[in-house]
Amino acid sequence: MSEPISPFRNHLPVKIRFGDGVSADLGGILADEGVGRPLVVMDAGLDELIPGVGDALAAVPGAVRFEKDPGEPTSDLVDLAGSTLADARCDGVVAIGGGSCMDTAKAARLVAGQGGPYMRYTSGDVDYQPPSVPLVCIPTTAGTGSEVSGGAVITDPATHIKAGIANPLLRAQYALVDPELTHGLPPRITAYTGIDALAQAIAAVIVKVATPVGDGIALESVRLAADALPRVVADGSDAAARSRMACASLMAGLAMNISDCGSEHSLGQALGGRYGLPHGLTIGLVLAESMDRDRRFVPERFERVADALGAPDDGSKDGSRAVRAVRDILRRLEFETLASVGVQEEDLAELSAGALADNFMAVAPEPWSEAEAEAAYRSALALGDRR
Ligand code: NAD
Repeated sequence: MSEPISPFRNHLPVKIRFGDGVSADLGGILADEGVGRPLVVMDAGLDELIPGVGDALAAVPGAVRFEKDPGEPTSDLVDLAGSTLADARCDGVVAIGGGSCMDTAKAARLVAGQGGPYMRYTSGDVDYQPPSVPLVCIPTTAGTGSEVSGGAVITDPATHIKAGIANPLLRAQYALVDPELTHGLPPRITAYTGIDALAQAIAAVIVKVATPVGDGIALESVRLAADALPRVVADGSDAAARSRMACASLMAGLAMNISDCGSEHSLGQALGGRYGLPHGLTIGLVLAESMDRDRRFVPERFERVADALGAPDDGSKDGSRAVRAVRDILRRLEFETLASVGVQEEDLAELSAGALADNFMAVAPEPWSEAEAEAAYRSALALGDRR
């Protein structure tokens, strides 16, 4: 191929620190930024569960805590966090937790700075102003990559639809990616969050808006996750695999920002809205099926993904070995199926319409029809198990 590279722009200003123990840098960073009274958004009890989180918070005595219950954030929760931030006159924000906490913190800082309610930002008509207080994100899952992304995914409680927003000004100023914080993540949450990272990295390579910068980061993320994800689910105490998975997640977040997610996120998010399932679980449920449809339009891109996954060349050049390699990872993770989580055949038409209405479909290599979305769900529903 001798085509020129299409023009692109990137805006990725997050200061990243990666490595075991970097969460201990929190106190120093806040001091350097002149923050004495940060709002800390975290899951209730995470400081008792993860020693590193407790240690990092002990270094910030002036912190005001906003503890959320487990579960993905709603616009009501964001509005509450935003008013807490404004009322307590906090001079910074710290998010410690998975994507749910980080997205809550990003959206709350926006609401506190520019006025609520959160839902007014989902129209796409509001101009974003630079935030007046810094945000530090410390992920404890691996993960969403939200620590480096300009997105926040928030559910509208009235419709149960994920009403996300994205803007470079939503990004954190610092991402402290400390793999040690993920060592105690239970196996199922490890599998769900890890497959989300792998899916984001694969999507970054195959969507219409892919760029060579994103490809480079995404393919290394795929390579790391393909090896590390089954290992961290089999043995959560494997420190080397945890470290590689945390880096894969960080890189998938960067790649997703340079490029985007794809059809797997649209199919998955429709499931999340309808059934209230964890985000990563919904993505893994339909990942292989969405890849199997999209590979037909950009097989050469899926061949590159297959190489990164470590799949032996089968000479077909049709990208199918990437799908088989992902199915094999899902099998090793003993990943749930649509049938095992209780998805009903009579819901498939509504799910397909929901998936088609989702933003990420717009960047699929070739536009999807509702019939194709329904066929992908139907194929996933037909799986008895992952053997
Ligand atoms: P999560 O934040 O919902 O966390 C899942 C569960 O794991 C929670 O109960 C949490 O308390 C627990 N947990 C977190 N860290 C733990 C640890 N170290 N040990 C034990 N338990 C721990 O899950 P997630 O997958 O990280 O985030 C999902 C959310 O992120 C969804 O709302 C999704 O839409 C969003 N998301 C956002 C982006 C983005 O770029 N903004 C990208 C992908 C997904």
